[in-house]
Amino acid sequence: MDGKAAAAPPRHVLHVDRQRCLGCGQCLGSCPRGLLAVREHSACLVDASRCDGRGACLGHCSADALSLRPRALAG
Ligand code: SF4
Repeated sequence: MDGKAAAAPPRHVLHVDRQRCLGCGQCLGSCPRGLLAVREHSACLVDASRCDGRGACLGHCSADALSLRPRALAG
């Protein structure tokens, strides 16, 4: 041991590509925490701090608008 704490793995959070999102709402029921909503014609996370980053929603978008990003980069 060199006395340094191991770096924590980066946490991920859902990112919605608003250019791709159709606002169809197909993904809304796929989040086990109910964090997805459609606002202003696009899906969004209602509380990004509660996203578990496991990506349960990713396969529920036919427009390929959902992805995971490191938390610091997600928008
Ligand atoms: S399923 Fe895809 S296109 Fe439809 S609201 Fe969700 S992210 Fe947008």
